[in-house]
Amino acid sequence: MLGLMQPWPLLCHKILDHAAAQHGGREVVSRSVEGPVVRTTYAGIRTRALKVAQRLERDGYRVGDRIATLAWNTARHLEAWYGIMGMGGIYHTLNPRLFPDQIAWIMNHAEDRLLFVDLTFLPLAEKIVPSVKSVRKVVVLTDRAHMPQTSLPDVMPYEEWLAEADGDFAWRSFDENTAAGMCYTSGTTGNPKGVVYSHRSNVLHAMMAAMPDAMGISARDVVLPVVPMFHANAWGLAQSCPMVGAKIVMPGGKMDGASIYELLDTEKVTFSAAVPTVWLMLLQYLEETCSMLPHLGKVVIGGAACPLAITRKFQENYGVEVIHAWGMTEMSPLGSLCTMKPDYDALEGEERLAVQQKQGHAPFGVEMKVTDDDDHDHPWDGKTFGRLKVRGPAVAAAYYGGDGKEQFDEDGWFDTGDVAHIDACGYMQVTDRAKDVIKSGGEWISSIDLENLAVGHPDVAEAAVIGVRHSRWDERPLLVVVRKPGKEPEKADILAFMDGKVAKWWMPDEVVFVDEIPHTAAGKIRKTALREQFRDFRLP
Ligand code: ADP
Repeated sequence: MLGLMQPWPLLCHKILDHAAAQHGGREVVSRSVEGPVVRTTYAGIRTRALKVAQRLERDGYRVGDRIATLAWNTARHLEAWYGIMGMGGIYHTLNPRLFPDQIAWIMNHAEDRLLFVDLTFLPLAEKIVPSVKSVRKVVVLTDRAHMPQTSLPDVMPYEEWLAEADGDFAWRSFDENTAAGMCYTSGTTGNPKGVVYSHRSNVLHAMMAAMPDAMGISARDVVLPVVPMFHANAWGLAQSCPMVGAKIVMPGGKMDGASIYELLDTEKVTFSAAVPTVWLMLLQYLEETCSMLPHLGKVVIGGAACPLAITRKFQENYGVEVIHAWGMTEMSPLGSLCTMKPDYDALEGEERLAVQQKQGHAPFGVEMKVTDDDDHDHPWDGKTFGRLKVRGPAVAAAYYGGDGKEQFDEDGWFDTGDVAHIDACGYMQVTDRAKDVIKSGGEWISSIDLENLAVGHPDVAEAAVIGVRHSRWDERPLLVVVRKPGKEPEKADILAFMDGKVAKWWMPDEVVFVDEIPHTAAGKIRKTALREQFRDFRLP
């Protein structure tokens, strides 16, 4: 027997309907790409999103068409997103930090038909668009007054394009499993892989993300998603915020410490989310200017392991609670968040900080397990580490244009490529990427643990650990360090600082100092480039 409830499909634009009906006056504040801070509301976003949908249909776009965006987090990007989804189109967020030929490859693979582009990225679009045959039109997210000269044909300023629609439009309705969005993983090896979100997966993910023991946001929050919409849907915040009616503050293209601080302060932001490098910049700015964060309550830190030093500073110096989180583009992206269950809630000081180094527990909708290479489950003992596998309604089942098998087994488990352990309370800790783990004499050494430890040294700005060839042990850890400006720590200082905090045989065999560590488009350490750089390195 089937249930007798209404077949109300979980469609993304219903989130915006709800926001406009229940939280219509709540502000959406953006640092515009043109410069000034501009303000609208959820009701305003909905009105203009309806116009976007109407205009798209009028231009001949239909359900299933891929519509790319090359844009910062702003209200215009948000309304374009909902407009695309509301007529059945598929938003395709492009990462502008990739190389132009990679972006062109991705757009050709996705067969994008229209591009919304920010002023900042117009020169980039001029390089890319001529080699993408499927793109018919480019809409620049600005008005006529700010429209620059461009070599691209078929270009229009967004405000003019939008003015031709009156907004008298009804969202289209379709099956909740219809594709809503697309995002390519940056593909540190091989070509990027396309992840296709559905309306259903996005709605369920937004609910999961907002839950009290996940991000725990509400209508009383002011949320600053520093994490870009092109980095896995701004970790779901572009959907969770309108779903709960939180005021949203969009940072535009400015992510330096001073600009982020200004928004945190003037808009009284209570909640924010970003990768560790952004927070490093903010903390440095706070120290230099002796500023405080009286309004900020919580920050989510993820995308890469959060160094202990960041968590400690936020909590001890500024009274801001850190939620360490883990996820992947393939998971929409949230997989786990380190909020405190009662088991750990009474912990204080170093013990609490040690738990916060873990990536946390899975919300409802994410199943997790850790296995050996033969798919035998490891116990949840907080130390036996192996391959981390996940499944759930917001986890990819296949890649776009792939053969559907790549990393997915017949029971639906997706092999994340991460190495992790899970403790008895369900807290997962990533010890490495499978390809980054250092294999020394048949045993595994976690490069992440060593990096976190090294950046705890007061004179170290950034640290990376890679395995280098060793005649006896196969591989041994090499620590690569960027010193803080004006500081001159030596190898012996850093090793002495690390000594006793990890097993002796984990200690790096050598420390080298560099001016810069290479990063990926998402701001993570590019281990492949480092391994290449030190390919011929000989340990003493
Ligand atoms: P990519 O880096 O491939 O572009 P993602 O942004 O989806 O794509 O990155 C997912 C990966 O980032 C995870 O599989 C994991 O290795 C790493 N990651 C994300 N969050 C964390 C975290 N909190 N700690 C350690 N690693 C993390």
